[in-house]
Amino acid sequence: SSSSREPGAARDGRLLGGLLSPDFDGPACRSRYEGSRRWRPSPFPVSPYLVRKLRRYEANHRRCGPDTSRYREAMAQLQSGRNGDRGECRYVVWLPLQGLGNRMLSLVSTFLYAVLTGRVLLVHEPPEMEGLFCEPFPGTSWLLPASFPYKDVRFGSDSKESYVSMLQSNVVRYDHDHDHVAGNGNGNASALPAYVYLHLENMGLRLQNHTFCEEDHRALDGFNWMVLRSDSYFAVALFLVPTYRDELERMFPSKGSVFHHLGRYLLHPGNPAWGIAQRFFDGYLADADQRLGVQVRIVWHHPVPFDVMFDQILRCTREHALLPQLTGEPPADAGVNSTSNMNTTAKAKVKAVLVVSLKPEYYDKLHGMYYNNATASGELVTVYQPSHDQDQHTEARAHNERALAEIFLLSYCDEMVTTSWSTFGYVAHALAGLRPRLLAPLDLSKMRSDVACVRPASIEPCLHSPPSLVCRRAQDLDPVAHVPFLRHCEDVDFGLKLV
Ligand code: GDP
Repeated sequence: SSSSREPGAARDGRLLGGLLSPDFDGPACRSRYEGSRRWRPSPFPVSPYLVRKLRRYEANHRRCGPDTSRYREAMAQLQSGRNGDRGECRYVVWLPLQGLGNRMLSLVSTFLYAVLTGRVLLVHEPPEMEGLFCEPFPGTSWLLPASFPYKDVRFGSDSKESYVSMLQSNVVRYDHDHDHVAGNGNGNASALPAYVYLHLENMGLRLQNHTFCEEDHRALDGFNWMVLRSDSYFAVALFLVPTYRDELERMFPSKGSVFHHLGRYLLHPGNPAWGIAQRFFDGYLADADQRLGVQVRIVWHHPVPFDVMFDQILRCTREHALLPQLTGEPPADAGVNSTSNMNTTAKAKVKAVLVVSLKPEYYDKLHGMYYNNATASGELVTVYQPSHDQDQHTEARAHNERALAEIFLLSYCDEMVTTSWSTFGYVAHALAGLRPRLLAPLDLSKMRSDVACVRPASIEPCLHSPPSLVCRRAQDLDPVAHVPFLRHCEDVDFGLKLV
């Protein structure tokens, strides 16, 4: 392979410091190495321990993945209706829920869970996600085979297969004295049902009780097959389970880099989405001296009017000098005018602004400002928006390809202004490895926020729905008071994030 002849530093950059396996062919997934080159260097070194864990995960996935005899054995056990003895290969099946940002957060979280528990991650790819992401593991597949029986079941919190339902109906019982869970009756894991469903959906800003206590995780460990649905960045909650803490600390010496590294490792746009991103980047953004991403997401339950939102974006960019002032704006110093920068022959610096939104009007107005006016500094500001689909269409593959391309385009920016509460924005800045300017949530009764935007404490996504820690313990605890590397989120005051 060409990698052996490549200079060390270039190879290291292309493989993101060892995060990516060198054992892939190029053409099936052009973004894997081409995309990684376009990111700014990561502010967080990859720990050698994380690299070892990833290579070990990959080897296990090859051993147990679809099309292996071990997979066929495990399927036979699943179809027998019983959990059976502890399997040599154990699985967690990911089912999609909500929009792309939510899906990327829960996928990365599920992968981390798989790494921690020695399970193999299998992903159900419905038609709208087909080919959206590349295969992340060399020499095998992460796609759930079509013959898997439960992929289209609409599992919910009260499904009888759900872990919490099983607890309530005594199908599983905690066993505090012995170190594992028991099926009801004969006290042995082989009597458990053939799989467990774990429901980790944001419900009223909480995850279900009994999903992130030590006892729960011991109980869940008894099942060879797990099916999981989540819209949340529950990776944060894994840090609350003492069993996983040591491993997590070794894998992530800087806690605030979990999504950044795992997202860069796992989520590579497939060729159609990558084509969109690459054409747009090379055509419009690559040659700019600086790139500013502006992501505007308006949701129905928080309907901020256009003018108010646009004003807030301008306040934010002005206060933090993200965009140059226009010559027509009130002069900072009388007597200085637009001609002051005309006598320089140096080529003007170009600042490209990438507006990413379902709506076209933020782009229109910003573009108009810098089209019709010069800047006081003489910089050139170019404003682009790749698409404006108007509404969310998670069921449409081409729409999702644009969304993914735009998340990646944002992640190639040097600075970013993003919308509160948006998982789409979280994924973009966490992949980029930068702390965005987060537009502060607005008090809709006053139509104003005290500050235009805030700088989050870390690049990590926010878990909007912390788990309750009421299990055997009677009282809920605020994890922030007990765990040094957790904070509440700047935009979701109840939420949790790693720092
Ligand atoms: P969230 O709702 O902001 O947390 O983000 P999600 O990604 O989970 O759901 C929003 C979905 O709406 C995205 O996945 C896209 O399908 C669509 N969407 C929202 N904003 C944009 C945008 O700026 N560009 C594109 N192309 N799609 C968007």
